[in-house]
Amino acid sequence: MAARTPAAPTPAIPATTVSADRITVQSGDGRLKVLFVASEVAPFRKTGGLADVAGVLPRALRQRGIDIRVVMPLYQGIQWNNLEQLDGTLAVPMYFGHARAGVRMGRLPGTDLPVYFIEYNRFFDRPYVYGPPGQAYSDNLERFAFLSRASLELCKTIGFIPDVIHANDWQTALVPVYVNTVEWSKPLHGAGTVFTIHNLAYQGNFESGAMFITGLGFEHYNPYEFEHFGDMNLMKAAIRHANLLSTVSPTYAREIQTSGYGFGLDGELALRGHDLRGVLNGIDTRDWDPAHDPNIAAPYNAADFSAKATCKAALQQQLGLALRPKVPLFGVVGRLTAQKGFDVLAHALERIFHWDVQIVLLGNGDHEAEAFFRYLASRRSDKFRAFIGFDEGLAHRIEAGSDFLLMPSRFEPCGLNQMYSQRYGTLPIVRGTGGLLDTVVNYDQATGNGTGFIFWDLNPGAIVDTVGWALSTYIDRPAHITAMRKRAMEQDFSWDRAAAAYEQLYREAFKIRRGQEFK
Ligand code: ADP
Repeated sequence: MAARTPAAPTPAIPATTVSADRITVQSGDGRLKVLFVASEVAPFRKTGGLADVAGVLPRALRQRGIDIRVVMPLYQGIQWNNLEQLDGTLAVPMYFGHARAGVRMGRLPGTDLPVYFIEYNRFFDRPYVYGPPGQAYSDNLERFAFLSRASLELCKTIGFIPDVIHANDWQTALVPVYVNTVEWSKPLHGAGTVFTIHNLAYQGNFESGAMFITGLGFEHYNPYEFEHFGDMNLMKAAIRHANLLSTVSPTYAREIQTSGYGFGLDGELALRGHDLRGVLNGIDTRDWDPAHDPNIAAPYNAADFSAKATCKAALQQQLGLALRPKVPLFGVVGRLTAQKGFDVLAHALERIFHWDVQIVLLGNGDHEAEAFFRYLASRRSDKFRAFIGFDEGLAHRIEAGSDFLLMPSRFEPCGLNQMYSQRYGTLPIVRGTGGLLDTVVNYDQATGNGTGFIFWDLNPGAIVDTVGWALSTYIDRPAHITAMRKRAMEQDFSWDRAAAAYEQLYREAFKIRRGQEFK
C-alpha cells in the first residue's frame, strides 16, 4: 500500500536478520520508531482522558525526535474527506477469514505526525465509540480485536517496523499478545511492547466462549494469559504479555497493586510490579493558560495575578451570586460518578453551608446525583449553584474565578482538574489518592508551604474539616494563600516532562525485548 501523494516519505522496510531465537531489525534512520495504538485520539474522537493523552503525548514525543505514528479507527463523524486515502487495502486476519480494510492518513493538528485511520464501516461507522450511554456494543470484542490486528498489519504493509509498540487500555490489549504469538519469528516480534492502563475499571471481560474471536487458539485461555475468574480478560493478557506496563501516576501505580484499587487485577499487577511504572499525565498548557484564555474575563499570570479578582467577580455575576470579593468561592467540576466521591460531598455540603461561602458545581453523569444537586441548588440559592451539563467554557471560568477547587475522589488514576486549578492559582482541596497525591503538595501551616489541602478519609467529616481548614487559612493567614497561589501557578505540569519519562520507558522496553540498548 502506497500513498497516492506521499506527503511524508515512507521508510523502506528495514533489513531483517533472523538469528536462532530472535529477529534483529536494523534501525532505519537512527530515530526510535514507535507505533502508538489507541481507540480514541483527540481531537478526532474523544470520550475520555485516553483521547487527551493520545492526542498530545505523541506530539511531545515527536518533538523529542521520536518517529511516532498513531493508529485509530475511522469513526463516524471524523472528517474523512480531509484525509489522504492510501492505495489498496489491508488484509486483516480475523476468525472468519481476511477482512479488507481501508486506511486513511491524516496528521495530528499542527504537526507532521501521521495518524492512520483504519476504515471498516461495519465496525466503526456508528454513532457511538463503545456503545450508547451506559451500554456496550455487543461486538466490541470483535471490533477491537480487529483494530489491534489491523494496526500490526498496517505496519507491515507500509513498511514501518517499529522498535516499540505502545498499546492503551483493554481495546488494544491484544496488541502485545499478538506481537508475542501470531507475529512470532516475524519482524514485528522484535518490537518491545508497552501497555498503559488509563482506566482499570474497564478490562475487556468476555465469556470464555468468545476466545475464538481473538483468532488465538483456546490454549491461550489459561490462568497465565486470558482466563480470569472464569472469564476471558483482555487486560490480564496484556499485563502478562507486555514487556513493560504503565499507568498515569506513580501513586496509582502503587495503589492498583492492592485489593482496594485493583478491580480484581491487583494480584496480576503486583506480580509484574517491578515492570509497572507510573508516569504522570501532563496537561495542555496552551488550552489551560490564564495568560491567554479567551474564556475568562481577564488574563493573569504567576507574576501578577491581581486580575484573578476580576475573574471571580465575573463568575459571581454570571452565576447570580452576591458580588462579594472576600467571600471564598469553591468550585467543583467533574463527572458525577462514584469515582469522584460526589455522593460523599453531597452529605458534607449541608454543614459547609453553615459558613459564609459560595459554591459552584459543574458536572453531569448519574441521574440521581444530577437531581440531588439541582434540588440542593434550588434550596440553597443564597450560596450554591449547580450546572448540570458539559460546558468547557464554564469549566475554564470556574477554574479562574474560584478560590478553591474541591475534588473528593474515591480513586483518581491521574486527574486533570487539580492541575488546571493550580495553573489558575485556585487551590485544590483533594483526597490523598492517585494522581491527586502526586500533584498537590499539602499545606503546612507552620511554614506556609504547599499548593493545596489534602484529606485522607472519604467521609463527610473529613471533607468538612478540610474545607474548614482552607477557610480559616483564607481568613486568618491570607499571606499563606497568596504564596500558595503563586507556587501552584509555577508548577510544571507540561507534557514535556511526561514525554521524557515515556521515552525512557520505550528505551527500556526495547532493551528488554532485544537484550541491547537502542542505538
Ligand atoms: P476524568 O478523566 O476521570 O473525567 P479528569 O479530571 O482527569 O477526570 O478530567 C476531566 C476533564 O473533563 C477535565 O478537563 C474537566 O474540566 C472536564 N470536565 C468534566 N466534567 C465536565 C463538565 N461537566 N463540563 C466541562 N468540563 C468537564
